[in-house]
Amino acid sequence: MSDYTKDLMADVKAKNPAQPEFHQAVEEVIESLTIVLEKHPEYRSAKILERLIEPERVIMFRVPWVDEQGEIHINRGYRIEMNSAIGPYKGGLRFHPSVNLGILKFLAFEQVFKNSLTTLPMGGGKGGSDFDPKGKSDLKIMRFCQAFMSELFRHIGPNTDIPAGDIGVGGREIGYLFGQYKKLKNEFTGILTGKGLNWGGSLIRSEATGYGNVYFGAEMLATRDNTYEGKTCLVSGSGNVAQFTTEKILQLGGKVVTLSDSNGYIFDEEGIDEKKLAFVMNLKNVKRGRIKEYADEYKNAVFTPFDHNAEQNPLWDHKADCAFPSATQNEINEKDAQNLLNNGVIMVSEGANMPTTLDGAKLFLDNKILYGPAKAANAGGVAVSGLEMSQNSMRIPWSREEVDNRLQQIMKNIHTTCKDTAERFGTPGNYVNGANIGGFLKVADSMMDQGVV
Ligand code: NDP
Repeated sequence: MSDYTKDLMADVKAKNPAQPEFHQAVEEVIESLTIVLEKHPEYRSAKILERLIEPERVIMFRVPWVDEQGEIHINRGYRIEMNSAIGPYKGGLRFHPSVNLGILKFLAFEQVFKNSLTTLPMGGGKGGSDFDPKGKSDLKIMRFCQAFMSELFRHIGPNTDIPAGDIGVGGREIGYLFGQYKKLKNEFTGILTGKGLNWGGSLIRSEATGYGNVYFGAEMLATRDNTYEGKTCLVSGSGNVAQFTTEKILQLGGKVVTLSDSNGYIFDEEGIDEKKLAFVMNLKNVKRGRIKEYADEYKNAVFTPFDHNAEQNPLWDHKADCAFPSATQNEINEKDAQNLLNNGVIMVSEGANMPTTLDGAKLFLDNKILYGPAKAANAGGVAVSGLEMSQNSMRIPWSREEVDNRLQQIMKNIHTTCKDTAERFGTPGNYVNGANIGGFLKVADSMMDQGVV
């Protein structure tokens, strides 16, 4: 890091105390951008980085709601409108008890670069609440979503800010949020993405993040004349991203042996085939059960509970070729990264946002494995959200093949951008630099064009 970037980082920490995830996301990007700032002092004098790390707008609000027993609950709602240089704010909503300002700022910051990489005209944003949907009745979920949208609706719009899903926000929640927006505004617009197919949703949106990540991995493997055929893969999580990552790996000839939720993980040495995956999808999306039940159903599988205070995550300590972290941030630390390397993993492609700590990522880079960082590898989700917006504007839905082909092409293009940019800036094979610099340049140049705003 140069003196300039060191000072900048110190300033970020001083101005944003108690936001370690935000510091981490900024530090990773700043490290990559050091080379760019040396070549392009104009970005430095225009204070592009200083402006990028300051959200354009932060909205925080009270979400009061009443459950079916008449009890009143108060949650906290947020929307971070991070950067609109290349398009309206776009990014998901996360409902999880761990949600706080720092976590949403890290996610919004990452989103700016990710959206830029998709080549679609989308700025970056993120939002959510500390509400925990786990185990709650549909009625509670609906009441909460309606209360949340009763405030959020005044800040968003189809040309201003278009939220989507994330952890804890799937099709059910998007439906309730959309219904309330429509009632309050009396207009039917593409205000959210991830909508149901009957009311403006896009085919392949549910699959997009997982499929896109596996497509990105295929591109990385191809650079070493390799494919998924016969590869053993570790996948974490068991939600939207994990499910469709598993589905696509199976279709491309690989074997998935793990899945998890916040209570623990299952290891199925024989592999999770299509029938078992259908069981997981029903368990998680319909019954809303726990991954432990997989081991009750399939006796050969082993369930191991997580000890969240342990030094390492045992899920990452199995013999494998590829790993797809698809649960949450910082689920691979330095020790886990070392375990993955010791177990023969040649590729890590990130479905979750920032699932690897800075130390862990450094190990992957130093060992020159294929390491696809989240803002490139999981950009398929927001890319198809962008395609959903296009279909809404045209009022014409595209076929499954059309959307899937576009998704594949977008993931190919993102891969090429990352690979070529890394080479151009003297760090061939470093997809972290490629993604950060590739995403940055378009946003930075747009900010330069638009003046100090
Ligand atoms: P889901 O809510 O569908 O699934 C999340 C999964 O991760 C669940 O299995 C959940 O377990 C587990 N999980 C969540 N928090 C934790 C935690 N603190 N510790 C351990 N496990 C945890 O979310 P998604 O699949 O949509 O999102 C997963 C990741 O992918 C997130 O990082 C998200 O930001 C990222 N992402 C998602 C996109 C999308 O289109 N959905 C797009 C791009 C990135 P449990 O049920 O026990 O909470």
